[in-house]
This record gives sequence, structure tokens and C-alpha cells, in this order.
Amino acid sequence: MERNYTRIPPNEKIIMSQLNEILLGWGNLVKDRIGILDMNTKQLAESRLLICNSCYLRVDNICSPKMVGYNTKTKELKKGCGCNISAKTLSLQSKCPLDRW
Ligand code: SF4
Repeated sequence: MERNYTRIPPNEKIIMSQLNEILLGWGNLVKDRIGILDMNTKQLAESRLLICNSCYLRVDNICSPKMVGYNTKTKELKKGCGCNISAKTLSLQSKCPLDRW
């Protein structure tokens, strides 16, 4: 029997993974607003938010792509990711571009 697999190009995999992170974050934000978010995710998001609150890449509620900072692990200069911080901190798979959390 012939199998018909569709290979997803690497760039599309990255985009789909990022889209998944975004959707999970926004989904958890909705859960939080209606009071059904699990406590572990809520506590993790709150600890991440404390770090974001003191970060100079934060502009309003955005991790600003117009700002740059050094990644704490690689020491590379990185841009902010452009994400909504309220949603990003609630996305379990998301990472801080500066590896601050
Ligand atoms: S995600 Fe990281 S770089 Fe972006 S605002 Fe939060 S701490 Fe700063």
C-alpha cells in the first residue's frame, strides 16, 4: 500500500509552532478572564509577568520588536518578539527572547 505523507517545510513548521503558542496563550487568557484557568498556569504566568514588568523591552503590553537586549544565556543581541505580554506569559511553551524566563 502506498503511503501519501505530506512533508511540512521547516519554515512552515516554525510558523505553525509559533501559531500554536499564540493560540494557547490567548486561549489561556480567555480562560483566566472567565475564571477557569488552572492554578499552576496562573502562577507561572504571574511569575513571568513580574519579570516582564521590570524589562526595558516591554512597551505597554508588548514585548517590543523595536527594542533590543542581550540574551542572558547566549549573550546575543535579540529583538523583542512583538508578542502581547498578557497572552505570551500564559503560553506554556513560549520563551522569553532574552531567556529571562
Ligand atoms: S518576554 Fe522577555 S524580553 Fe519580552 S518583555 Fe518579557 S522579559 Fe522582556
